Amino acid sequence: MAKKPQDVLGNTSLTQFDVCIVGSGAGGGTAAHVLTAGGKNVLVLEAGPNLYPDLDKAKPITTLHSNDELKYESRNLIDQISMLEPRTFRFDEGSAAAVNADVNLLPRAVGGAFQHADCKTPRFTAVDFLLKTKMEAAISANPGLAVPGFGSDAASANFADWPFTYDDLEPFYSEAEQLYGVQGDTSNPFASPVRSKPYPMPPGVPMYLSLVIKAGAEMTTFFGSPLHPHPFPAAITSQFYDDRPPCVDCGLCSGFGCPNNAKGSPAVTTLRKALLSGRCQLRYNAHVSRLVNTGTHVTGVEYFDGQGSLQTATADAFILAASPIESARLCFLSGSNGDALGNSSGQVGRNLMFHFQTNVNAFLPNRVHGQRGRAVTHGLSDFRGVMPGGAEIRVLDDGGTPRVAMGGICEFGGPQGLPITEDGETYAFSLGVRYGQALKDVMRDAPLGQHLFGMIMQAEDAPQLTNRVDLDPTVQDVFGLPVPRVTYKNHPYETQARTFYAPFMHQILTNAGGTHVFTAPCDALLGGPPTSRHILGTLRMGSDPATSVLNPQGRFHDVDNLYACDGSTFVTSGGWNPTLTIMAVALKIAHGIAGTQPG
Ligand SMILES: Cc1cc2nc3c(=O)[nH]c(=O)nc-3n(C[C@H](O)[C@H](O)[C@H](O)COP(=O)(O)OP(=O)(O)OC[C@H]3O[C@@H](n4cnc5c(N)ncnc54)[C@H](O)[C@@H]3O)c2cc1C
Ligand code: SF4
Repeated sequence: MAKKPQDVLGNTSLTQFDVCIVGSGAGGGTAAHVLTAGGKNVLVLEAGPNLYPDLDKAKPITTLHSNDELKYESRNLIDQISMLEPRTFRFDEGSAAAVNADVNLLPRAVGGAFQHADCKTPRFTAVDFLLKTKMEAAISANPGLAVPGFGSDAASANFADWPFTYDDLEPFYSEAEQLYGVQGDTSNPFASPVRSKPYPMPPGVPMYLSLVIKAGAEMTTFFGSPLHPHPFPAAITSQFYDDRPPCVDCGLCSGFGCPNNAKGSPAVTTLRKALLSGRCQLRYNAHVSRLVNTGTHVTGVEYFDGQGSLQTATADAFILAASPIESARLCFLSGSNGDALGNSSGQVGRNLMFHFQTNVNAFLPNRVHGQRGRAVTHGLSDFRGVMPGGAEIRVLDDGGTPRVAMGGICEFGGPQGLPITEDGETYAFSLGVRYGQALKDVMRDAPLGQHLFGMIMQAEDAPQLTNRVDLDPTVQDVFGLPVPRVTYKNHPYETQARTFYAPFMHQILTNAGGTHVFTAPCDALLGGPPTSRHILGTLRMGSDPATSVLNPQGRFHDVDNLYACDGSTFVTSGGWNPTLTIMAVALKIAHGIAGTQPG
C-alpha cells in the first residue's frame, strides 16, 4: 500500500522543482506566488507546523487560530521553542555569549511570523533607500551638523545606499498592497506621494485609545508646527476582499493568529495562491539544516522531517527566506574551512538590525477598551526625521544649532485587555495578590489591561559590522546543530534619536489626559537583546561584491543559483514597520527570477 504523504500541502505528485524556497513567511510566500504564476515548479520547506488544514483546497479557508489567550501567550502555540532551539546573546565580541530565552524569536509556522502581527504596513520613503548620500549632502550643506555614524564618525557604522530607489520599488509596493490587501489613506504627509495605485481599501473603524492619543498629538507642537497623526496602513481587511471577510475588531490581534482570516498573512494570501496553482508543494515540519554546495553552486538542501529523519531535496535554484538570523545561520552551517557560504565579502551575518523601540506609557483614568480593535489604528510619522513627502532629510534649527534625528513612525496603542496574562499574571504572580476579593478587584479594575496606554517609536537602527550572527562554538540545538550566536549593541545614532524624541512623546500622552507618564526601560537597560520582532540585515544587497553579499537582483555574488528574499536583504532598516518592504523586495527578486512584471 502506498504510504500517505505526511506534512505536505499542494501538488504532492511534483518531484522535479525549478526553485526550492526555505521558509514560508513574508519573503518566501511572496516568492512562491510570483514563481508559480510565472510557470515555475516550486518546493517550499517550512520548519514550523501548519494551522490551515485546507489551505490547498479551493474552498473557504479553515484555520486553527482562535481568540484564546492561553494558547498564544502562555502555551506559545506557534513560537520557536527556545529550550529545543535556543540562541545565545552577548553585547560585544569581548564578552562570552549566554543562552537567552528570547533573542528576538519569531513564530515558526506555515505563513511565518506575520500571522502573529497586527500587520501594520507603511512604505519606506525615498530617503530610506539613499540615506548615506542624502545624509552626507545634509552634513556638507549645514556647517556644524553632526550625526553619529556619519562624517568624522563614519567608521563606527556601516551605512550604504540601497542598489535601487523608491521609484524602482514603487510598482512592487503597489503589487504587495493589492496582494496582501492593505487598508489605508494618503493623509500621512511624510509618506511618499508617488503611488501608482490607491490603497485597495479605506481604513477600518478607529480604536478609542488611538483617538485619545491622536487628540493629544494634535494639541502638541513640534518646533512650532502641529503634529500630524494619521490612520496606520495595515494588511487587514476593512471590507470583503479577495474571498476574505472584513476584520471584526476582536482585539486579540498583535501576538495572535486571526480567527477569520482578515489579516493578510502570507498563508491565506500568496501561499494559498501558489498552492492552488498546482505548481507548488509545501513540506512543513521540515527543518532545513544545510545547503549542499560546491562553494559556487547549490545542488540540494538537507532537512529534518517531522519524524526527525534527514531528507534531501533538489532543485535548479534555491532561495533563503528563513528570516535574517536563520538565513545567515544556514550560510554558516553550509560553509567550509570555518567560513560561511557566499562570504567572500566577509559581510555574511553582519549589519544585523532591529528597530530601536522607545516605549512611552501613561495611565488613563477612563478605561481604554483595548479589547476592541486591531491593536493599533493610528500613528504619526513626524519623528521619522524626513521632510513632508519623504524625499529629503529634515534639518531642524535647534536654538541656532542644526540638528538631524532619524527616529521612526510612532504607533498609538495599549494593552489588549487580556485578563490572564496582563492583569492576572502581574497581580497573582508578581505582586502576590493570589485569591479572594483582592484578586477579583484588581482583575475587574484592570489597571494594566484597561488603563495603560502609550506610544512606541520604531526608530531606525544603524547597520554595524560588529552587530552580527555567527555560530555559537558550544551550544547546540535539538538537531545537534550549532545555534545562532547574536552579538548586538546599540549605536549612538539610535540612542540619541530616542533622547531627542522621548520628551515630545511624553507631552503627547500628557495632552491626551495620561497620568504617571514614563519611558519603559529599553532592552539594553534590561540587560538583554532587543525584542522588536523587526529583524533585518545579515545578507545585505549591493552592487559591489567586496561590500555586500547579494547583488541587486537578490542573488549571492558568490553562488550562481542561490538567492535570499527575506528581511536579510535590507541595507538599512528605515524607521517604518518593515514587512511591506520585505514583500516588495521579494516581489522584485522573484519577478526577476521568473522573468515577469509586477501586476
Ligand atoms: C507579535 C508580532 C507583531 C508584529 N507586528 C508587525 C507589524 O505590525 N508590521 C510589520 O511590518 N512587522 C511586524 N512584525 C514582524 C513581521 O512578522 C516580520 O517582519 C516578518 O514576518 C518577517 O518576514 P520574513 O519573511 O523575513 O520572516 P518570517 O515571516 O519569520 O518567515 C520565516 C519562515 O522561515 C521558517 N524557517 C526558519 N528557519 C527555518 C529552517 N531552518 N528551515 C525551514 N524553515 C525555516 C520559519 O518557521 C518562518 O515561517 C511582527 C512580528 C510579531 C511576532
Ligand atoms: S482584530 Fe481583526 S485582524 Fe486582528 S485578529 Fe481580530 S479579526 Fe483578525
